[in-house]
Amino acid sequence: MKADFEIDAGIKTFASGLLPELISVLRQARPGDLIAVTSSQASVGVELEAWCRFTQNSLVDAAVAAGRGRWVVRCGAAPAAPEVDRPIGSRLWLYTNFDCNLQCDYCCVRSSPRAPRRALGLERVRRIALEAAELGVGEIYVTGGEPFLLGDVGEIVAACAAAAPTTVLTNGMLLAGRRLEILRSLSRERVTLQISLDSPTPERHDRHRGAGTWARAWRGIERARSEGFRVRLAATVATDAEAAEFRRFLDAQQIAEENRVIRRIAIRGFAEQGIAMARADLIPEITITADGVYWHPVGAEDADLFLTRDIFPLAAAFAAVRREFERETAHQRRLAAIFNCA
Ligand code: SF4
Repeated sequence: MKADFEIDAGIKTFASGLLPELISVLRQARPGDLIAVTSSQASVGVELEAWCRFTQNSLVDAAVAAGRGRWVVRCGAAPAAPEVDRPIGSRLWLYTNFDCNLQCDYCCVRSSPRAPRRALGLERVRRIALEAAELGVGEIYVTGGEPFLLGDVGEIVAACAAAAPTTVLTNGMLLAGRRLEILRSLSRERVTLQISLDSPTPERHDRHRGAGTWARAWRGIERARSEGFRVRLAATVATDAEAAEFRRFLDAQQIAEENRVIRRIAIRGFAEQGIAMARADLIPEITITADGVYWHPVGAEDADLFLTRDIFPLAAAFAAVRREFERETAHQRRLAAIFNCA
């Protein structure tokens, strides 16, 4: 992960000079800046983690190479997301595959035409859907990669939609021919399409996603709407100004609030610029891939968000996520109590 400031701590620890150096760099940093600390002392990682919890900064990356650790700290809290009151487990994400017809430069799971498929598979999806219904899951999100690359995407989405209202995340570019027939077979009442469109005009969208992709995504949006589907437009943006510009475009298009998603680029996968998110910044949204269960869809192949290989029984996977969340929030409360010594 690229950082805005680099501290080579050598053999220093917090007790032997690293802390003043860190504070001095923090004074020059702005909220959101990334500070990397490299050290040959393994204890620095533990010290940084504890220090971050006390100071409302976040440890967003840790790596070891050639016997040296490199830890990246984000200055300040992550930007607040709109308040949502969503119990853990009410929303379930399924990564059906990781290959994609596109290769966007900020794809958080490194999808591309060359990415191995790593398919979840219809039989597993059917079992997940059945167990999810029993657990009272209220919404299922089908994502990838590009789900419409799968020959059995129709059966996969139908199985999910039978269990709960289902949203399919797609780049919208493949909704023609046989795939259009598959789309037509799906329930308009139970299936929503979330189609990516990053900017009001092609330039920025095409820069990230490839030439001609804006126009093809727009055709996909119009086609899905004309087939009677609810379509949610989802933009991934780099700045608040880009978000505001896209909001004005959605207003002009008379797109209702519930049919819009605007999110900032997260430094995950291919992305090198954006918002660095640590696990502690994310309320869990249970996410299942062929490799197991993850904390959140934004890092569905990242070790720090991985929970367990065991998808089944789904109730046990849900319990594991809730347990971890409670353990981490209890830890944060305990530290807050220690800090609040008056
Ligand atoms: S961001 Fe979406 S459309 Fe782009 S490569 Fe990743 S999965 Fe494919």
